[in-house]
Amino acid sequence: MPRAPQCPICKRPLPEGAGAAVFHPFCSKRCADADLGRWLTGSYAIPAVEVDDESESEAGGGPDEAGEPWPPGRGGRPPVRH
Ligand SMILES: [Zn+2]
Repeated sequence: MPRAPQCPICKRPLPEGAGAAVFHPFCSKRCADADLGRWLTGSYAIPAVEVDDESESEAGGGPDEAGEPWPPGRGGRPPVRH
């Protein structure tokens, strides 16, 4: 006895009939949309985030303190502003 084909989304047996083949291999439009959502969020989301140019430029001009070493004043005291 052959096993009935199942919907890959909800694991339910696919309905039989003329209209059932519309959403093949899914049982309904809801499951077909769910599978489409997986592709959109899982596959197409990664290349859509290629906006690293701006983030790199911001990171380069971030810390200003690290670039200039503190100049030691006379007597070894730091210049205190009142
Ligand atoms: Zn289904």
